[in-house]
Amino acid sequence: EGDSTTGLYLDGVSVVFDGFRALNNLSLIVEPGELRAVIGPNGAGKTTMMDVITGKTRPGSGIVRFGGRDLTRMDEAAIANLGIGRKFQKPTVFDALTVFENLELALKAPRGPIACLRWVLRGEARTRIERTMAEIGLTERAADLAGLLSHGQRQWLEIGMLLMQDPRLLLVDEPVAGMTDHETEQTAALLVGIAGTRSVVVVEHDLEFVKALGSRVTVLHEGSVLSEGSITHVQNDPRVIEVYLGR
Ligand code: ADP
Repeated sequence: EGDSTTGLYLDGVSVVFDGFRALNNLSLIVEPGELRAVIGPNGAGKTTMMDVITGKTRPGSGIVRFGGRDLTRMDEAAIANLGIGRKFQKPTVFDALTVFENLELALKAPRGPIACLRWVLRGEARTRIERTMAEIGLTERAADLAGLLSHGQRQWLEIGMLLMQDPRLLLVDEPVAGMTDHETEQTAALLVGIAGTRSVVVVEHDLEFVKALGSRVTVLHEGSVLSEGSITHVQNDPRVIEVYLGR
């Protein structure tokens, strides 16, 4: 606990927009290989937290570190190159390319980190793509156009595209919005499988999904941590009950 040298480390982070505190002294530690769910009411600061980690928004004060590196003065590209990937809600897969081709493109993307180029140069791109297709459960759909996939499968393909870039930390924004119950369950299993060798932070509204993740949960409220622990712990925390029922 409290290791600032390896995982994701935020300490006393504040972000103020026009006098409004979107993040207020936020502190958070995510260990290497940890899966963490972040929940909280609208306006709690979840998006701003992700923006601060990826360098899209600079904190007014506080410390943001990953793998011991200070991120607060790095630009977005430099942070991405440290192995921090982000999946936004809307997938940006290429409908006219196959599942395999989408993953291949992600591996060979000119903006991708040097780490990925190694696979291409060693002629191991196919192995790498096949491994990722297995991870996201789309092996059977390799030759199908992405445009033919279901909503859920498109989300998994985009997660796969991010995995091609060898992230050490993956930030995932509301992955199960619009998914069927079955897809939601599969997404939980997928994210549990992905964590372990990488840290994964998932922002999500769907509490059933968060339960299925079985991970530690951080509840944000008014820009700081209201409660943290197992889903059972946070659900029974009187402060959490007050915030959710008080609305
Ligand atoms: P969440 O993702 O938990 O819904 P956000 O991080 O999006 O919360 O927003 C936190 C608060 O900061 C909200 O009240 C929002 O209106 C405000 N906010 C977010 N981004 C900006 C911005 N660029 N300018 C002004 N206010 C912002």
